[in-house]
Amino acid sequence: MDGSAHKRLRSAFDPARFRDGGHELVERLADYLEDALGRRIPSVLPWSEPETQLDRTPSFGEEPSAEVKEVADDLLRRAFHLHDPRTMGHQDGLPVPAASLAGLLISLLNNDPSVYETAPAVVPIEVRILRWLADEIGHPQDGGGVLTSGGSLGNLTALLAARQAKAGFDVWHHGQREGDELCVLVSQQAHYCVTRAVRMMGWGDGGIVKVAVDRDYRLDPTDLPAALERARAAGRRPIGVVASACTTATGSFDPLPAIADFCEAHDLWLHVDGAHGASAALSPRYRKRVEGIGRADSVVWDCHKLMMMPALLTAVLFKDRRASYENFRQEATYLFEERPDEEWYNPGNRTIECTRPGMAVLLYTGLRVHGVGLYRDYVTRCFDLGRLLAEKVRAAPDFELALEPEANIVCFRHEPRGADDLDALQARVRRDVVGDGLYYLTQAELDGGLYLRCTLQNPFTTEEDLEGLLNAIRERAGAPGAALE
Ligand SMILES: *Cc1c(COP(=O)(O)O)cnc(C)c1O
Repeated sequence: MDGSAHKRLRSAFDPARFRDGGHELVERLADYLEDALGRRIPSVLPWSEPETQLDRTPSFGEEPSAEVKEVADDLLRRAFHLHDPRTMGHQDGLPVPAASLAGLLISLLNNDPSVYETAPAVVPIEVRILRWLADEIGHPQDGGGVLTSGGSLGNLTALLAARQAKAGFDVWHHGQREGDELCVLVSQQAHYCVTRAVRMMGWGDGGIVKVAVDRDYRLDPTDLPAALERARAAGRRPIGVVASACTTATGSFDPLPAIADFCEAHDLWLHVDGAHGASAALSPRYRKRVEGIGRADSVVWDCHKLMMMPALLTAVLFKDRRASYENFRQEATYLFEERPDEEWYNPGNRTIECTRPGMAVLLYTGLRVHGVGLYRDYVTRCFDLGRLLAEKVRAAPDFELALEPEANIVCFRHEPRGADDLDALQARVRRDVVGDGLYYLTQAELDGGLYLRCTLQNPFTTEEDLEGLLNAIRERAGAPGAALE
């Protein structure tokens, strides 16, 4: 290596430079947090066309062109601001700052918890986290499970285990050549990633048999026997049911006890997609929403939604630990030992992923620094906010509530007197309100048409913020008089 290359490398790894850069970055982020939480950011989403943003994104070249603080300044200016209490759109987690700091820690250490040897401190933390989560939903302590990158990958992981456990033949080794054609029973309202997972497993169009939902978009358990018949009539053998706790669009919790009874009676695997709502288990007030979740053979739980974690951090939990080992039984002698089921300390046996970030450390830090109590308070607060917004909407004559919210997701629409095309109105009003940058909300297509949709994930959102949102909607709908009601 020539002298200048060496010098450059040394400078990149210079601890003093890291220290100074780190202090500056933390200063900026602390100021940002203060501004965002205090609603002092001009726009929660500084909207501009994608092409414009692309043009504004500084390039890079052979030589250095910025320090970390400059990259941060640029990003903070143009970012979508989740910490602003007027951001009420998607299900993105609001990372607790201690977890963000832990993000720096794990990205510097970069210990890969696929095998114990490369992450001797991280793997036991992951095991502790998994045991705690299992305990919160009433799964056995030794249920097994793993952390993975997102609910989509988590659902695929769980469905692969379901297939291996219930197919009646060894799909993992022999493929789908022998035995019956399989399928799963899935509610009409399940997240699209469930369908994707089934298609990735090679089951095609017939791999999903839809189950009807009730008026509140919950899986209707009285349709399960008929769904079983529909599957058989189509030449498929169902191996399981996928329940949502809760659904993404409306936050509806499927009736888990009735679904679990059905699964037990018919020897079906019960998978609960609790990506969003499994966190209800943490709240003494809302725990009843997920009653019966402990009976599920597998559960997916996104900690980057309602557990104040940055993306991605998902737990896949199994009631029977063998399921998580049977899933990917495969020889990789350079990594794993002979008996994977005795290797709890090598999580790589149980995931689709090989290298992973030490994501467990983020949640662990949040729990060590703040205690479990903060998490219980947080979930309760978010669900309370859902109810509060629903009350405001119900009390307003010019708004309609789509359904009574069971979680922190609320769907509603504005129905000013004289409006004809209500769907077009919701879409336009949403675009305008988001364009103004004062509030952020989303929309959802439901049976009755297009609805506005809020996910309340920021515990600092206030009653005034909710009223402000409704007034902003009224104003943008062109009925300024209504705002004075
Ligand atoms: C968000 C969500 C998913 C997808 O999870 P990702 O972590 O975004 O991959 C799956 N199912 C439900 C019910 C969800 O709400």
